[in-house]
Amino acid sequence: MDYQRIRHPIPPLYDKESRILILGSFPSVKSREAAFFYGHPQNRFWKLLAALFSEDAPVTVEEKSAFLHRNHVAVWDTIASCEIQGSSDSSIKNVQVNDLSVILDHAPIERIYCNGAKSHEYYRKYIQEKTGTEAVKLPSTSPANAAFGLEKLMDHWRQILIPLRIAPAGIGRSLLSWYDFNGRILPWRSDPTPYHVWISEIMLQQTRVEAVKDYYDRWMQELPDIPSLAGVSDEKLMKLWEGLGYYNRARNLKEAAITIMEKYGGQLPCDYEELLSLKGIGSYTAGAIASIAFGQPRAAVDGNVLRIFSRILMEPGKINSARTKGYLEREVLRTMPRERPGDYNQSLMDLGATVCLPNGQPLCEKCPWESICRAHNKGTECDYPVKEQKRPRRVEERAVFLIEWEGKYLLHKRERKGLLAGLWELPNLEGRYTLEKAGEEVAARGFYDYILEPLGEGKHIFSHVEWHMTGYRVRLQTLTKRLRRILDEDADWTLATRRELEESYALPSAFDRFKKQIDNS
Ligand code: SF4
Repeated sequence: MDYQRIRHPIPPLYDKESRILILGSFPSVKSREAAFFYGHPQNRFWKLLAALFSEDAPVTVEEKSAFLHRNHVAVWDTIASCEIQGSSDSSIKNVQVNDLSVILDHAPIERIYCNGAKSHEYYRKYIQEKTGTEAVKLPSTSPANAAFGLEKLMDHWRQILIPLRIAPAGIGRSLLSWYDFNGRILPWRSDPTPYHVWISEIMLQQTRVEAVKDYYDRWMQELPDIPSLAGVSDEKLMKLWEGLGYYNRARNLKEAAITIMEKYGGQLPCDYEELLSLKGIGSYTAGAIASIAFGQPRAAVDGNVLRIFSRILMEPGKINSARTKGYLEREVLRTMPRERPGDYNQSLMDLGATVCLPNGQPLCEKCPWESICRAHNKGTECDYPVKEQKRPRRVEERAVFLIEWEGKYLLHKRERKGLLAGLWELPNLEGRYTLEKAGEEVAARGFYDYILEPLGEGKHIFSHVEWHMTGYRVRLQTLTKRLRRILDEDADWTLATRRELEESYALPSAFDRFKKQIDNS
């Protein structure tokens, strides 16, 4: 075959998220015809990468291009022009090399790999000095490299997953094996209907499993299905939720149940997008319902799952950035065994809750991913996930009054908007009050015949604010006309017995410290 002088006909493929660069030597005849990399049907490049990334091998040029972008891989060749006989690497002579700054100046490339010895030879001889970076030589994927079968190639090429921060294939199954023996036995898991999964997942947000169990049982006794939830009174709803916090979650459950009755005949829809459209259902809950109750391959990614994946991959991106979350969610999906999506999500929940613990050293010696976890292998588990510096919480001082009249306690309903919206509370004032000052405030409200006692201090932490509270008991000896009129005319004020408080009025747990004093009185 005659020599031909050929200029490289394919532009480099990269974008601003490319993390590694794979360099071949020069495109084969088939690649030149297809005007895209690795066009020879016997070249194992696409098959190999697809196996490493646990994806189907791309077929068309568009699919191949999208595949590389999606996986943050840049591709080009070392040679810009040369004399060559057909596709023969060994015939290459009179070489001019490519200027890699086109890629390196625009993409955060962490590692350069050469596909085969020829590419590596030209890189070392003519390019390395300019880039100042050594490239890693990998065995060629060309059909001419018959000594390397696909398995052997995979063994060598697996290292490209490290800078790509891609979870190794097969880890999903090892986690499922762990889960089969170590998964937690939880009430909602014995009969994972869509309704059971939905209610339990909403209750579990920001709340410990142990605390949720009783709430869940009580809820299912009172509201066993969607019609009963849609028809429940607001007072009863709040009572069932009392102490779980984030009361909007309960209101959203009811609102979504009404929508389900009106739009879906009382059955939770199985379509992920339709689930997402329901009030209070975000991507985590929709993913949990779709995967656990309907067996669909959807990820349910919460803080636990992000923590685990940021550790196994040593992900340096800030954990609350949309980009980092999106990337880690893709890794969860990539590693999800398609035959058991719900179990996989639950196994991640359990691993995060019992082994890969937050705030302190995780129990790596019990972890099924100990050998593949990069943070563990480097001893940097506690450096991940990378977090934004939190703004300190605002501190609010409050004086809380337990106002008692003949075995009843004065309650006030909060404004319909804002913190603890629409819930009952013990009357309270913003600010710090001494006993004397508290007495002045009580007198200023028209009370004249009472006994005032201090009840000590309490603290409650909300997500953005802390209440530092000082409590006072006010034993009324006389019910003033003014208070009687307020109670008659304003439905936002009431007197409730201890029993009524327990059975009918939901008092947020912020007041627990002082509610307990009722029990002792
Ligand atoms: S090895 Fe340790 S840090 Fe890594 S996932 Fe397991 S528990 Fe978490």
